[in-house]
Amino acid sequence: MIERTLSIIKPDGVKNGLTGKIIRLFEENGFEIKAIKKVHLSRSEAEGFYYVHKERPFFNSLVSFMTEGPIVLIVLSAENAILKNRELMGATNPKDAKEGTIRKMYAESIERNVVHGSDSLESAKFEIPYFFNVFEIL
Ligand code: ADP
Ligand code: MG
Repeated sequence: MIERTLSIIKPDGVKNGLTGKIIRLFEENGFEIKAIKKVHLSRSEAEGFYYVHKERPFFNSLVSFMTEGPIVLIVLSAENAILKNRELMGATNPKDAKEGTIRKMYAESIERNVVHGSDSLESAKFEIPYFFNVFEIL
């Protein structure tokens, strides 16, 4: 099934000049870019995006991290895009990520892990319209 998924290049990735490399990896791996924009989230915007994690001990730290600088939001499309992007990203903790994955190559910690990707169809259906309206997705 052709799916859409939300990718985010997080503040560490943008700051470290990885935007182009990551976009290239998406294209080389058969993803089509349906929408893309750079934004700097407010605390309330980041809290709303990560509401599923609001009871977690790392929530406040995660929101601080995600608002420390600009991020790049990307809607990707491909066959099995959601799982395929999770595989390309690698495990949440870069110590557990496989060779060749974005997090293995570029992440410095479980928190500062360079990229976000929707983890299910349900998440993608919340996350994509959280940031993009229908006119912005080609
Ligand atoms: P993923 O991004 O792999 O889907 P989660 O949805 O579990 O991971 O967590 C969301 C984000 O919160 C992670 O990408 C990471 O930035 C941060 N995070 C997750 N677990 C921890 C943790 N134990 N300590 C600090 N930050 C964490
Ligand atoms: Mg997640």
